Amino acid sequence: MRDWPLWTLRRSALAYWLLIDTLALAVVVYVIVSSPRPDSDEIARFGAIAGTAGAVIIGSSIHSHRMGESERNPWAAHLCYLTAGVIALPCNLLVLLLFGPALHGVLAQRPESHRWVFTLSATALSVFATRYLVGWAKPAQGLVVMVFGAAVLLVVRAGLIAVGLKLRSPRASAEEVVGEPIDAVLGIVAVSIGGLMGFVATTTPVHALMAAAPMALLERAAQLPQWRRSAQRDAKTGLANAVHWDGRARYELAKARTRDRPMAVMLLDLDHFKRVNDRIGHLAGDAALSAIALLLSGTVRRGDLVGRFGGEEFVVLLPDAEPAIARSVAQRVRHAVEDLAVTTVSTDGREHLLTGLTVSIGVATTQRFGYELPDLLVAADAALLAAKGYGRNLVEMA
Ligand code: GH3
Ligand code: MG
Ligand code: MG
Repeated sequence: MRDWPLWTLRRSALAYWLLIDTLALAVVVYVIVSSPRPDSDEIARFGAIAGTAGAVIIGSSIHSHRMGESERNPWAAHLCYLTAGVIALPCNLLVLLLFGPALHGVLAQRPESHRWVFTLSATALSVFATRYLVGWAKPAQGLVVMVFGAAVLLVVRAGLIAVGLKLRSPRASAEEVVGEPIDAVLGIVAVSIGGLMGFVATTTPVHALMAAAPMALLERAAQLPQWRRSAQRDAKTGLANAVHWDGRARYELAKARTRDRPMAVMLLDLDHFKRVNDRIGHLAGDAALSAIALLLSGTVRRGDLVGRFGGEEFVVLLPDAEPAIARSVAQRVRHAVEDLAVTTVSTDGREHLLTGLTVSIGVATTQRFGYELPDLLVAADAALLAAKGYGRNLVEMA
């Protein structure tokens, strides 16, 4: 218990996460002790909703496993049948439905189980907050109440989770904290299918089965953000990969051209990087690349576009950067790399503090080379070569 990763959270995040977990547990206990015994009709509805959802999720898990998809986001499907439960089940059977995501967390053996427990607790709280608002003993079935309930469920859940994530990583971007627009769309689709499922299950339980196909489709669609991220990101550093960076850079350059704004491209190549691999090992080299990527993202402005260009080459597009600004940004990056210390493991298995890394940087600006990306890259590359030629650990303006 002492070595649980939960304890590595910052103090404010730890307090908040434990508060959410405790509140959820308290609500669940209250529901269990205060709800009357369900009747046979309610048990039939539970069986239909849980059976349908279970079949879809297990089927989808088997499919993902066969396809070698290591990480999935199953929350859209969980939200879907929980919404059905909010509409069609008494509160104690709704608690039983929450065993779905709980069991999923245990079976999937998530590396950060405290994260799963926190998300589950936030989900449980938002589910019961919604239930309270739409009718605790017997939920209202009107359209307006249902839409209101769905909105409350999504907003309260997203809000509770966002606060937790922001406390955990104060530097996290809005996208990391509240998700991308596609996540909101998936949430809306999930509660819509769930609402219909609950509605039909209320009149004829077995009709809940009709939700199986849309729920299976939702399960697949919920993987879209992850697929897109892995298509756009470089796996080793998390930066934009070369293809994605190229597309974004062309778009930003076209925008800057119409607005007549200056831009700069910065091309970086680590100096004598082969020596790091040869002397300390490729794993140490990889750790250094990740550290440089993190340093780059932290050293430039938020709107600057950082990408991994190739092996140990990085590229940054700097919007609204006059040549003097671009040069000072490049110098800042160069100094930051000089000061970098990366804890790595060398080939003999011992911890090794890697220092003394340096980088050469070539910078090209739209003022001299125009807004065509290939022209800027060729110019920045020539400047980079010149920096290498002059002795490395230098910034050269094209
Ligand atoms: P310089 O640029 O200063 O001329 O010397 P260098 O040794 O850095 O030479 P170059 O840029 O030509 O070589 C790149 C080296 O970077 C080759 C390879 O060993 C290493 N490298 C490229 N990609 C990776 C990677 O993903 N991981 C690791 N560990 N090393 C990489
Ligand atoms: Mg290179
Ligand atoms: Mg190099």
